Formats: sequence, C-alpha cells, structure tokens
Amino acid sequence: MKRLVLVSLLLCTAASYAQQKIVWPKHKKAVIVLTYDDALMSQLNNAIPQLDSAGFKATFFLMGNINSQTIPIWRAVAKKGHELANHTLFHPCSSTEDNPVSSDHYTPYAMIREIETMNNLLFAVDGKTTRTYAYPCTETAVGGKDYVDTLRKYGLVKYARIGGDKDAVISDFKNLDPLRVPSYGLEENTSADQLIAFVKKVQQSGGMGIFMFHGIGGDYITTQAGAHRALLNYLKENQKEIWVTTFREAMDYVKGSNKKQNPGK
Ligand SMILES: [Zn+2]
Repeated sequence: MKRLVLVSLLLCTAASYAQQKIVWPKHKKAVIVLTYDDALMSQLNNAIPQLDSAGFKATFFLMGNINSQTIPIWRAVAKKGHELANHTLFHPCSSTEDNPVSSDHYTPYAMIREIETMNNLLFAVDGKTTRTYAYPCTETAVGGKDYVDTLRKYGLVKYARIGGDKDAVISDFKNLDPLRVPSYGLEENTSADQLIAFVKKVQQSGGMGIFMFHGIGGDYITTQAGAHRALLNYLKENQKEIWVTTFREAMDYVKGSNKKQNPGK
C-alpha cells in the first residue's frame, strides 16, 4: 500500500513538472509580441501612431534602406521605447524574381559581416549595443548552408526570429532555441478575426505568440489599417491577461525564468 502511495506521488510530481508553465509578470497569462519587417513607410505612417495611441511597444526589424529622411524618425521611434532590430543591410534571400539581392553566393561568414555592419548602423541610430535579429525571408541558410550556429558563435545578436504560420504558438520554453524563435508570418490581407483568433490561441496556451507584419495599410504583404487597429483594440481590452512587449523584452524574461527553473543551465 505504502509503495502504491509513493508511486502515485512520484507520478503526480512528474506530471506537474511536465506541465510546469512559465509564470508571466504582473499576473499576465500570455505574451504577444508585435514585430514589423523591412522598415516600411506604412509602418511609420500607420502602425506606429496606432501603437502609440494604444500605449504598446513593438519591434521593428530594419535594414540598410533607412536613410537621411527616415533615420531621424526611427531615432524618435526608439526614444519612445520601441525596439529597433536587425534584418541585415541588403535582405539577401534565395533567388526569386522580386528579390534584388540573392543569397545564393553568400557564405555564412558574409552574412555575419553584414549583420555586424547593420548592428553598427543601428548603433548610430539609437546608441544601443544589444540587438535581436530576423532572418530575411525567414531563411536560416545562405548558399545552401545553415548559418544559425555561426551566428551563435559570433554572438552578434541575442535572439533571432524565424517564420511560421497561425500555429506558431510557443509554449515549450525549455526547448526553445533563442536563435530560432517561431512567429506567425501574416499573409496579405489577413483579417481582424484571423489576427484575434491567433491571440486567443496564445491565451489558451499560456505561452507566447509573435506576429510578423509587413505593410500596414500600404506597401506590401499588407495588413489593412482597420484590421491592425482591431487587433490592438482586442489586446487593449484584454491587457489584464495579455502582456504586449518587444521581442527582446519578452525573450529576456523567458531566459531569466528558464534560469530560475534550471539554475545549473
Ligand atoms: Zn524582410
């Protein structure tokens, strides 16, 4: 009998350990990260005013297309608390018709050099020395070679975002590679209902969900400004439960919480 009690006790402990969930700050139940790629004008014109009026901070993956006109604006965006992050200088991707810079002849080291140069450009914009990264076209390989471990070795970026779809809900934080963090890459004209459905799925999981936006009310792979606003309204209405923060801040929290649970690691 005693033995049975002991065995069931052990089983219970094992089960609760397996289900051990991350505890988010301020009693929040889930985290949503809003990220925007390619330094597009529609983000400056539409996304940022909406984010600011809702009081949310987001992450912008910029490239070397920022210039004398836009750099002062991005600098002001950073001052408000948004995160400026690295998306390379030239956005090299495997050859396609609409992709001006092909990564087919890049080596992992060439990518490292490019990421490092973009880090330096971003330092000149906002004075920060720690960066997060998003793989151009969500490709983790150049010239047929995966460069994630090369990036890890050089330590140029703290966390990196990969792609994914509406099922990219992160709940297994123990096995999450900080340089392969999945996100929901939106398609053109994703509706408000679809955006909110993803948030609800993240809420149910108690985990983290990352949106990958491009154009907002303009440019390309566009999310309509109304759908974007509806998403922010939903997040605002549910802000007791949902923590909306930058990619870096969310991942810093995840990293800190993993350390607490596994002090040896
Ligand atoms: Zn991009």
